[in-house]
Amino acid sequence: MKLPIDPASVKGFLDPEEGGALYRWAHDAVAWGPCLEVGSYCGKSALYLGTACKARGGLLFTVDHHRGSEEMQPGWEHHDAETWDPRAGTMETLPFLRDTLRRAQLEDHVIPVVGRSATVARHWHTPLSMIFIDGGHAMEQALADYRGWAHHVMPGGYLAIHDVFPNPEDGGRPPFEIYKAALASRLFRELEQVKSLRLLVRLAG
Ligand code: SAH
Ligand code: MG
Repeated sequence: MKLPIDPASVKGFLDPEEGGALYRWAHDAVAWGPCLEVGSYCGKSALYLGTACKARGGLLFTVDHHRGSEEMQPGWEHHDAETWDPRAGTMETLPFLRDTLRRAQLEDHVIPVVGRSATVARHWHTPLSMIFIDGGHAMEQALADYRGWAHHVMPGGYLAIHDVFPNPEDGGRPPFEIYKAALASRLFRELEQVKSLRLLVRLAG
């Protein structure tokens, strides 16, 4: 894996080992169709996924309303003051994503979709070879992401979920809950774990 820019130059919290796993999985999957991620933020995971898609002539869609998750708002642990737009009175991370994609020469291979995940999912019709869920961590958002997107993974395609922490002391539960729901549906089987990342494969039928 060779990245066009240093991932450390992109805001975000993705672990490099997890990034490497995302690259590997997307490189594998994208031969079958486009990939999609929920939760672009400033494009750190999109850098890994998008570089893999580009290497195989494929495409990544990346969905975000760019207003930040709960834990990224002012006063919360993960707030970054540079992402605050005083004119709007909200967070605004789209310019950071655009900057990452431009610097990494990924603009023809990574398509930002700006909007609420559940709204985009409701109108989505293209089968996806891989979906990476890394959006809101409140139960309502995480469940909406799972319900909205899981059925768009093609049989044999991948569902990757970030921030899966079985032990509540390590982090919030909702990503773990949707990981369990995916396994309980019997539509997915677990393939691999890298730190807090889980990779599931969609079974036929
Ligand atoms: N994958 C990114 C981190 C994503 S952080 C990286 O590697 O750095 C989570 C993102 O999800 C935030 O940018 C937030 O704006 C977005 N988000 C949260 N809830 C959302 C929702 N309901 N619809 C769309 N985006 C959402
Ligand atoms: Mg995450």
